[in-house]
Amino acid sequence: MTPSELAALDHQHLWHPFTQHALWSKSEPLIIASASGCELVDVRGDTYLDGVSSLWVGVHGHGHHRVDAAIRKQLACVAHSTFLGLSHEPGIRLAAALVERSPSRLTRAFFSNSGSSAVEVALKMAFQAQQQWGNAERTRFASLREAYHGDTLGAVSVGGIDLFHRVYEPLLFHTLQLDAPTFREREEALAEAAVEAIKAQGESLAALIVEPLVQGAAGMRMHSPAYLNPVLQAARDAGALIILDEVATGFGRTGTLFAAEQLKVQPDLLCLGKGLTNGTLPLSATLASEQVFEAFVGKPEHTFFHGHTYAANPTACAAALACLDVFDAEDTLERMPARSAFLANRLAGLAELPWVHQVRQKGLMVGIEIRQPDGAPHPPELRMGQQICQAIRRHGVIIRPLGDVLVLMPALAMEEEDLDRLVRATRLGLMETMRG
Ligand code: PMP
Repeated sequence: MTPSELAALDHQHLWHPFTQHALWSKSEPLIIASASGCELVDVRGDTYLDGVSSLWVGVHGHGHHRVDAAIRKQLACVAHSTFLGLSHEPGIRLAAALVERSPSRLTRAFFSNSGSSAVEVALKMAFQAQQQWGNAERTRFASLREAYHGDTLGAVSVGGIDLFHRVYEPLLFHTLQLDAPTFREREEALAEAAVEAIKAQGESLAALIVEPLVQGAAGMRMHSPAYLNPVLQAARDAGALIILDEVATGFGRTGTLFAAEQLKVQPDLLCLGKGLTNGTLPLSATLASEQVFEAFVGKPEHTFFHGHTYAANPTACAAALACLDVFDAEDTLERMPARSAFLANRLAGLAELPWVHQVRQKGLMVGIEIRQPDGAPHPPELRMGQQICQAIRRHGVIIRPLGDVLVLMPALAMEEEDLDRLVRATRLGLMETMRG
């Protein structure tokens, strides 16, 4: 099919996620045909640098030979076999490998297929464990205002992004919402307020859920362990379980394999997705402590009645195992400090531009917030973030905004030359759009 024929069929039949089709149908879609390393190639043969690692999943770059080889090897054995009542080697080995690398309390891995379902699983596990411990009054969750934990209804309930979540309000359960910093400001005061709120309502809490250190979809809002440690400790002291959602921060993005490693208080449940398979196949995991797991062992009605058809798909598990191997083979984490320092260096100066309100960075997660020179936000209907990203695309780089926050989320494997290209294109696109 020609690019134009594909575009016509796309406009006729597709419903894209998080996409306003009134706008989509007016422009020609960029249709990706292939990828290699950190570059995407479209059906017209044009090459783009993938500045958001295909929605934050790419860790080692596209088409990694080790990961691809592991998938082919597994396909030759068995592509899929259910995990309900049966087991298989890639799933067993992956559970052990994740537990070995994860925060100290966690001993069990439960697999599903998306970040949202990893979160649903954690919420249901926390709630059911509390019930089975005899804590009937612990029916509520605490979460951070502006949180994003996925798009299924439980995940939306613990989310706080008004634009995405408002319409579902009558369907949602209510949480205790805690204020978190946008960028490490007033950390002590906000932590104190959150601790007080948890103390006051702690007896009703089943669990606290947070995206540690970086609230991604909220627009790369960032806090430090100085904010999070006391909040997590207050939840634990109050008898609530701690759920860390590392779907976005996991697999090296913040400088350590998991952001939890930078915290004093360790989770009872940990949600993983995205980078787990380097974007090759959908897989997610909820890791649980032995204490939580034990709450489900015994009576038939205490079983965790949850399981997706494709849970622990063996091909996906084989890919995930290979991804973990690549971390060792390529010293991915050891190279992170230099990579993120290089990126910080290239970004320096951007914050001085009159249109840039703030540049926020943690590891290889970056949010560049665009505002008017007087500090006021742009009217949303201008879709300024979107306009700038279109201009950046004309310089051969793909990034995707969150409102008026430009998100740079390069693969951990991105070389300095390409990190430089990413920042240069961002600056050019920004200046061109703002100067009209
Ligand atoms: N949690 C966090 C922190 C996320 O960033 C996301 C997705 N961006 C999710 C959960 C949901 O993951 P998925 O889109 O795979 O359902």
